[in-house]
Amino acid sequence: MSSETVDVGCEALLSAKGVQKSFGGLRALVDCTLGVRPRSITGLVGPNGSGKTTLFNVITGYQRPDGGRIELDERDITGFSPEKVFASGIGRTFQLTRVFARISVLENMLVASQRTGVWIRSVLSLDSRPDERQRAMELLEFVGLASLAHAPAGSLSYGQKKLLELAYVLVADPQVILLDEPAGGINPTLLNQLRDRIQVLRSMGKTFLVIEHNLRFVTELCDYVWVMDQGSVIVGGPPETIQTDQRVLDAYLGTMEEDDDNDDLE
Ligand code: ADP
Ligand code: MG
Repeated sequence: MSSETVDVGCEALLSAKGVQKSFGGLRALVDCTLGVRPRSITGLVGPNGSGKTTLFNVITGYQRPDGGRIELDERDITGFSPEKVFASGIGRTFQLTRVFARISVLENMLVASQRTGVWIRSVLSLDSRPDERQRAMELLEFVGLASLAHAPAGSLSYGQKKLLELAYVLVADPQVILLDEPAGGINPTLLNQLRDRIQVLRSMGKTFLVIEHNLRFVTELCDYVWVMDQGSVIVGGPPETIQTDQRVLDAYLGTMEEDDDNDDLE
C-alpha cells in the first residue's frame, strides 16, 4: 500500500507519510503511511520484524527517517529530537520496560520530570501549583501503584512496571501516547487494569497508538487497527474486519502455524 493509496484521514492528529528507514541493506520501513485520529485508540499490529517499533522510533525521534514525514496536528515534526517530540506532546513506552530498579517507584516518577525538564502536569488535576510529589502520587494512584510508591521499582512485577511506565509517560501530560506491547507478559488482572486506565485516559481526551500482539486485547480496546507487513502498512480498519482480511492472514501465515495460541498471532 503506497502513501498515495492510504487514506490517513484528513482529521488525523498524528500521521506518518511515506516513511522510509533502512539499516544497511535491510529496509525496515518502506513507504510507511498511517494516521491516528484524535481521541482514538488505534492499534498497530503485524508479524515480528514488520517494522512497528522502528516506526515508533521514527515518530518519537529516536531514529531519523531516510525519507517521508511525521506530522502532529498538521505540524511537521520529522527529525525532531526525542526531547522535542516529547515536549510537543507525544509520550511513549518501550517494548522492554525501562525503570530505575534501585530507586523507589515515586523517585522514578520524580526523575521522569527532571529528565524531561517538564513539571509533572497532571491530567487528573486542574491545580497548577508545581507540587511535584503530590502530582506524582496522583498519577501513581491513577495506575493503582500508590501503595507501592516507596518500594524499589526493581521489586515490581513485570506488569506493575508496565503500569509505572504508563504513569511515567503521563508526567508530561502528552496529547498522544504510544505504547509498545503494553500487554506482553502481564497477568489478566493487571491487563484489565491497564485497559481500563487507557479507556479512562481516552475519555479525558488522550489519543493512543498501541503496538500489541495480544489480539483479544487489541479487539477489545481499539477502534481502528493498522496492519504492517515487511515495513509497509498493508491494511487498516475496525478490529473485526482486520481479523478476517485475507492480506492479514497471508502476512501472518507461517508464524501462525508455529503457534497454538490464537490470541497471539506471533
Ligand atoms: P517489530 O517491532 O515489528 O517486531 P522492528 O521495527 O523491531 O519490528 O524491526 C523491523 C526490522 O528492522 C527487523 O528486521 C529488525 O531486525 C530491523 N531492525 C530494527 N532495528 C534495527 C537496528 N537498530 N539495526 C538494524 N536492524 C534493525
Ligand atoms: Mg517491536
